[in-house]
Amino acid sequence: MFRFCKSDILRVSLNALPCPLPHPPPPTPRPYQCGHCSQSFSQPSDLRNHVVTHSSDRPFKCGYCGRAFAGATTLNNHIRTHTGEKPFK
Ligand SMILES: [Zn+2]
Ligand SMILES: [Zn+2]
Repeated sequence: MFRFCKSDILRVSLNALPCPLPHPPPPTPRPYQCGHCSQSFSQPSDLRNHVVTHSSDRPFKCGYCGRAFAGATTLNNHIRTHTGEKPFK
């Protein structure tokens, strides 16, 4: 199934100006799925680089309790449990 944006349909039917918006690239097949989370990757090396963030390599350490996290976002979310900030509510 080929996807048109609205402007494309207009262009085809009304011979109007070309669509000014960048079209989203076609989705890249990502057959290498992480077994620890829902992320998937197109290259096995990318998956390998990602998987280590779940196991040994956790460079983001909590200054309050010493727990380590794979990502800065995860760490910041965790630190909020110490500081009591509740930005999502
Ligand atoms: Zn993962
Ligand atoms: Zn902590």
